[in-house]
Amino acid sequence: MPAVARRVPPMATSCELGPPTLKVVSPDVCPKSRFHEPLQPTGELLDELRRKSEELETATPREILRWAVQRFAPKFTMATAFGPEGMVIIHLLAEIAPETPIFNLDTGYQFPETLELRERVKQRYGIEVEFKRPELTVAKYEAQHDGPLYQRNPDQCCRDRKIQVLQAAARGWHAWASGIRRDQSPDRAKAPIVGWDKKFGLVKISPLANWTKKEVWKLITDHDIPYNPLHDQGYTSIGCWPCTRAVMFGEDERAGRWSGFAKTECGLHTLNDDK
Ligand code: SF4
Repeated sequence: MPAVARRVPPMATSCELGPPTLKVVSPDVCPKSRFHEPLQPTGELLDELRRKSEELETATPREILRWAVQRFAPKFTMATAFGPEGMVIIHLLAEIAPETPIFNLDTGYQFPETLELRERVKQRYGIEVEFKRPELTVAKYEAQHDGPLYQRNPDQCCRDRKIQVLQAAARGWHAWASGIRRDQSPDRAKAPIVGWDKKFGLVKISPLANWTKKEVWKLITDHDIPYNPLHDQGYTSIGCWPCTRAVMFGEDERAGRWSGFAKTECGLHTLNDDK
């Protein structure tokens, strides 16, 4: 696989319509450039997304990603937790558009195996996945809340350590790729291939929406794509270590997430959720 060039950080780029001297500005202070403007969910855009989503229903993940790159790069990004679906998308992007910026929400509670997978991605594809972290370290956060909040209020912990971080990270982008599959949960069953993500204010592209778990693992096996070794120990869906357990035979693949709580999603992929 070819090595990739370092990418321009998304939140501070040069203003291409500015004076000849290269000046680093934030997206908000470059008045002449439409490049930095957030995408607006106009009726025209939503129509385009609806039409494209229907058209792409029968397309392969590779074709969907190719369209996404052509339509939205360089304002196209991807967030990954290094799950099997994310690894498949990284593998495809390494071939189609290896310069695509990819980031990971590092809550401070990720498994060492997950962090190590980031290094394996770098070795295999030359892609450096960027960590996006909450302002407070785990130690400071737990001190502020008299102990680990995930034990008492995982919704708030996810909001503070994932959602807010992603909201900040999503600013300035127009579209992002997601690894969700429709057969993962009733909520995900409604996911379009391409749609407007109103929670984060950008277009969400789910190239694997129509794929099954079996298809994902077949590609991983066929191409020797790196994956989290915890999957071989019964962890079907992997998030933060305090909120993830291995699943028993016959359990739902996401049963090991927030086990003991009436919670199945961290909120990143909840549809029509304005919280
Ligand atoms: Fe906190 Fe658990 Fe959510 Fe991670 S998954 S942010 S530890 S509640």
